[in-house]
Amino acid sequence: MHNLWDAAEAAHYTDDLHQRVYTSRLLGREQALVLHGGGNTSVKSTVSNIFGEDEPILYVKGSGWDLATIEAAGFAPVRMQHLLRLAQLETLSDAAMARELKAATIDPSAPAPSVEAILHAILPYKFVDHTHADAVVAITNTPDGRAYVEDVYGDSIVIVPYIMPGFALARHCAEHFPREAHAGTIGMLLMNHGIFSFGATAHESYDRMIALVSRAEAYLQQRNAWHISLPPAAPITRPIRDELALLRSRVCAVAGFPLVMTTHDDERSLGFARHPDIRTLAQQGPLTPDHVIRTRRVPLIGRDVQGYRAAYEQYFAEHAPRSSQPLTMLDPAPRVILDAEFGLCVLGRHAQDAAIVYDIYSHTIENILRATALGGYRALDAASLFEVEYWDLEQAKLKRQGAPPEFAGEVALVTGAASGIGRACAETLLKRGAAVVGLDINPEIEHTFQQAGWLGVQCDITNEAALFETLEKEVRRFGGLDMLILNAGIFSSSRPIADLTLKEWQGVLDVNLNANVTLLREAYPLLKLAPRSGRVVVIGTRNVAAPGKGAAAYSVSKAALTQLARVATLEWSRDNIRVNMIHPDAVFDTAIWTDEVLQSRAAAYGMTVEAYKSRNLLRTEVSSYDVAAMAAAMCGSLFAKTTGAQVPLDGGNERVV
Ligand code: ZN
Repeated sequence: MHNLWDAAEAAHYTDDLHQRVYTSRLLGREQALVLHGGGNTSVKSTVSNIFGEDEPILYVKGSGWDLATIEAAGFAPVRMQHLLRLAQLETLSDAAMARELKAATIDPSAPAPSVEAILHAILPYKFVDHTHADAVVAITNTPDGRAYVEDVYGDSIVIVPYIMPGFALARHCAEHFPREAHAGTIGMLLMNHGIFSFGATAHESYDRMIALVSRAEAYLQQRNAWHISLPPAAPITRPIRDELALLRSRVCAVAGFPLVMTTHDDERSLGFARHPDIRTLAQQGPLTPDHVIRTRRVPLIGRDVQGYRAAYEQYFAEHAPRSSQPLTMLDPAPRVILDAEFGLCVLGRHAQDAAIVYDIYSHTIENILRATALGGYRALDAASLFEVEYWDLEQAKLKRQGAPPEFAGEVALVTGAASGIGRACAETLLKRGAAVVGLDINPEIEHTFQQAGWLGVQCDITNEAALFETLEKEVRRFGGLDMLILNAGIFSSSRPIADLTLKEWQGVLDVNLNANVTLLREAYPLLKLAPRSGRVVVIGTRNVAAPGKGAAAYSVSKAALTQLARVATLEWSRDNIRVNMIHPDAVFDTAIWTDEVLQSRAAAYGMTVEAYKSRNLLRTEVSSYDVAAMAAAMCGSLFAKTTGAQVPLDGGNERVV
């Protein structure tokens, strides 16, 4: 474990709180220390209150802040005196504790203090650092964990048996730490959970954390349990998109809502999924209990989703009666799947959630293998994990949660998404919670948006092989296809039929029509499996109902596409796939409408460009975002009972009405 302290950098952080910010960020840079919220830090200081009195305050990490990016405002200032008195109570429910912590801050706008705040308060040191370091949890998740820990640290640390984080743990430490600590104590280790270090300065506490974790790493190294290798595993090469989409649809059916599923076939993921002892290795539980909510207690091994559901329901029925209050069962669907053919599939309500589950499970794989090499992996017992999974604070959080975004867990594919209507559709669907795959011939598509829910693929949609490859990539990334927006289209220069070459005609039909035949055909098996039914939206044109002179190829291609969509409506209704069409006009903020096209179209109608632009009944311009909003509406509940509709979005056209 590298020590990242940099004296020059540290000098920019002047007071206690800013020194606290600096070393917290250093800890946050190491995933092997603090993976997705697994850790917190604090500093004890004094502030002058409104009465001019000095008041001792604990600045402790607030919830919702990540150590890697934390700022001074991310630390909740809590009255020390209140924290120390709380630690003396015989009992306190965690819900009451959370309320007390929030009420004891001196700033109503501060974030909620970490639930480990009391634990930080009772440790009699100015700076306290806490991480869930990989090496520490690997060593403690073994049958002889305690003996190894004593071997590694001697009496330089206080060892605390596993107790669920919350008031009970703080109470235990308040009682035992003063008895067991001595002048040489530099840390406190919590079995199956993590480690604390402390010091008089931020530097000292940070140095000790790195030293303590490095000792655990060195111990694993000495026992050949640090660098883990798995036999090389080659990913399968056959197309698996239909099989993946089927697996996702089964998981979503058990969850009761759509989830994004990302498949990873890197060497570690595949090697672990194909491990001969996978059932014993992976069926015990997570590395630290704080992973249980995101990953669930155990992964699904193989594809028997119904079997997983039954096992989860049994686990709930077994442990729930011991709770003091009625519990709401979480959905019984897996979030991690290990399949010998696919590798590691991770699921989440959003692509970002699935990415976090992947990070967590990658570390889990590594550390299960380390613990196995050291002396056998042994996770916490099911009852302790259940206690965390159904912690009253977590149950309360579930109740507070509002409705998820409209398209949470769903996947959309938009063609021609680098600009204009396609880009607006992609942006709108992303904002409403969908994962979106955007196709475009323009290579900029890959960077059109920067977020986990976006996959931009440069692709010539008239190339069948490229389309197959893209769909394969898409399903490996997001698990299926729920919404298909057929938007890509070209408008070659205006030309009367008398001058139209077959080549030009053919070129327009290839993009505007033929590519969509392939896409519809290939997307059909995926759309059939969409958890909330498949939707297709076709971006047509006003020209379908009211063609214009000189636009034969464009008008014919879009009219044929409309007819194709109508046939799809008929054929696919039995699969609950809805197909609807938008016929826009006067959308001038798209790549099609170059000045040249605009001038030639205006000329074709014998108008000026200005008159041409507002020649509709409402004398208005339609924007790409208006079309995108309509496309999203057609995918949403407003159009849940509509299929085969053709909606003009043209400001009103005399020849259409
Ligand atoms: Zn912790």
